[in-house]
Amino acid sequence: MTHTRALGALLLVLLLAVAGCGRPGSPPVKGPQPEDLPVFKVATGFRLPQSPTWERARKRGHLVVGVKEDQPYMGEKDPASGRYSGFDVEIAKMMSAALGFDPKTIEYKTIASANRETALQNGQIDYYVGTYTINDNRKKQVGFAGPYFMAGQSLLVRKDEKDIKGPDDLTGKKVCSAAGSTPYQRLQKEYPGAVLVAYDTYSVCVDNLLTYQVDAVSTDDSILLGYAAKVPEELKVVGEPFSEEPYGIGVPRSDNALRFALDDALEENEKNGNWKKAYEATLGLSGEPAPTPPAIDRYPAG
Ligand code: GLU
Repeated sequence: MTHTRALGALLLVLLLAVAGCGRPGSPPVKGPQPEDLPVFKVATGFRLPQSPTWERARKRGHLVVGVKEDQPYMGEKDPASGRYSGFDVEIAKMMSAALGFDPKTIEYKTIASANRETALQNGQIDYYVGTYTINDNRKKQVGFAGPYFMAGQSLLVRKDEKDIKGPDDLTGKKVCSAAGSTPYQRLQKEYPGAVLVAYDTYSVCVDNLLTYQVDAVSTDDSILLGYAAKVPEELKVVGEPFSEEPYGIGVPRSDNALRFALDDALEENEKNGNWKKAYEATLGLSGEPAPTPPAIDRYPAG
């Protein structure tokens, strides 16, 4: 690597940070367009008195939803307007409407991967929609409605990278992921040769990749495709996904009434076309056509 190249990459990161958009000189990257988004009909007369979370929201007058703010096409906050967009945000709105709350009134809270369980346990948020993998370990601490999407762990590298084509090429390489995430845990367990670097968020990992501090970023393909789509001249996603990451809506563990109501709402919106419309207006922009959503796993209360 030459100094000029590193300097160029650093400059790019700084420009991106300042402009909050595409590379200078290239056309701006198209984000989700408001007119393409589905309109969710707010349920009238909906009641869920068995759910303490829903009751608390009713008294408050709106829902408080945990999301990500730095994952393009999934959950992203526009620094200028403060508005959130992305597939996860659409799912959050869809659920709000089904629960009888106008999606416009949602209060969003950005919560990092490592803090999701605590946020749900403390009642900081009513539910969480942010690339949140359902697994047995997490089910001991929180409940999950869904799954509403199936992602898979993958690798993001610089465009000029020749050595890394899959997880078996990571020995001796610096690989960045988010603390408390399933991709981080998988690398640690199954690819011990990789030199792991952890940050709170993937966007910091991507900054480190662009400035040659790390060799790869690893997390779900759904997240990595979004970063690659923002700077396609600099970054690429390589290889095949090497895990299954079923995304769920996190809820407080004991609130089964809320969990089942969200399962119903997901099913309904998958049937009426809203799910597909939401996908196509957001995550679909990173290049993958809408898949068939995975079957809802309505696991028993307990
Ligand atoms: N889906 C993975 C997880 O829940 C990675 C993405 C994330 O950190 O949100 O850990």
